[in-house]
Amino acid sequence: MGLLPVSDALSTVLNAVTELKTEIVTLGEALGRVASADITARLTQPPFAASAMDGYAVRFDDIAGPLRVVGESQAGRSYDGILREGEAVRIFTGAPMVSGADTVIIQENVSRNGDLIVISDCKEKGSNIRAAGGDFKFDDVLIQTGTKLDARHIALLAAGNVADISVYKKPRVAILATGDELLEVGSKIGADKIVNSNVPMFMALIEENGGIPVNLGIARDTAQSIKDKIAMLKDVDIFVSIGGVSVGDYDIIQDILKQAGLKVSFWKVAMQPGKPLVFGDFNGIHYFGMPGNPSSSYVCFINFLLPAMSKMMGLGPCGLKENLAKLEHELKAGGSRVNYMRASYSENEKGEKSVTARLPQSSANLSPLANSNCLLVREIDAPPAKKGDFVKIILIE
Ligand code: AMP
Ligand code: MG
Repeated sequence: MGLLPVSDALSTVLNAVTELKTEIVTLGEALGRVASADITARLTQPPFAASAMDGYAVRFDDIAGPLRVVGESQAGRSYDGILREGEAVRIFTGAPMVSGADTVIIQENVSRNGDLIVISDCKEKGSNIRAAGGDFKFDDVLIQTGTKLDARHIALLAAGNVADISVYKKPRVAILATGDELLEVGSKIGADKIVNSNVPMFMALIEENGGIPVNLGIARDTAQSIKDKIAMLKDVDIFVSIGGVSVGDYDIIQDILKQAGLKVSFWKVAMQPGKPLVFGDFNGIHYFGMPGNPSSSYVCFINFLLPAMSKMMGLGPCGLKENLAKLEHELKAGGSRVNYMRASYSENEKGEKSVTARLPQSSANLSPLANSNCLLVREIDAPPAKKGDFVKIILIE
């Protein structure tokens, strides 16, 4: 197979995945979840007309004369009488309005002597009253399908007395490392060995982006070890393997998976890093075979797995956070693959971005990836760029 353009690879992935089933969660569990139906208010808010200020409830027609204070309306405890001519009721913020009253005078505009008050200022009838239903009414749509719930949405739903919410299930993503050289973090690292850093990165990436990671550990570069690991795959929506998808003698996972039912949709994308990416269907599970170099697998995650997860979670095929930034240095012409350079942008006081990609670009290195805050995108055959030219960046922080 030749190299597939990035955009074709992305459409293949997005066409293959669909929204997951839904489940009911409590409001306390709803942070970060995506609403799978419009959510309506179970009550009217405020449920009653209420005072917006601390002061006195009066009849606007009476405000010229001294008024007699006949009672009090407190938040949570209303005044149960009816206000008559010449009367006022002491009232506080959030307290139910007093029947017969039509205006609240703020206490700063009132002088009080015993039971009598004199009003110094009130311009408008109806001042300082929150109307019943002024925020929302029973059965109004509070949250639309596809909204990712944050703290503000949760407050709104709580105010609407919505205790249970229908959300899309979280994608469950199995992650498998492959390689005879790999040991788990914290091991004694003998000669010829390195630490498995990709699985901890993917566990974090999946969790950070709303999925449930399932760690399958490390398979050795043998058919049996890989088979033993794939036998552990259950109840997952996505299977990600890392390493062993290139053309070396020990890059065997694709063949082993094919013997076990993998249907490959594409292998090799016109991108750098990340070229050897495999995508397909493994017995009903979406399969991503990521290359082992950490920056390569990261770039594959950002470009393909993240949009797939977004669609599965009901967020729609969310685009990447792209922006333009001014180059701080020259760049040579783009090559035959889209290059996602690890880069760092900063913003001046006007919010204008400038970017440098003068970081080591080896896909094996993690320090530049960890110290970058964007990927600078060099399109195929892009002409050489000068200092000051605008270039496309993908924000990754
Ligand atoms: P591969 O894709 O298996 O040829 O691996 C490419 C490079 O990535 C090699 O230098 C591997 O040692 C390294 N590598 C593969 N898997 C991991 C991993 N899980 N953590 C860190 N490095 C890895
Ligand atoms: Mg390997």
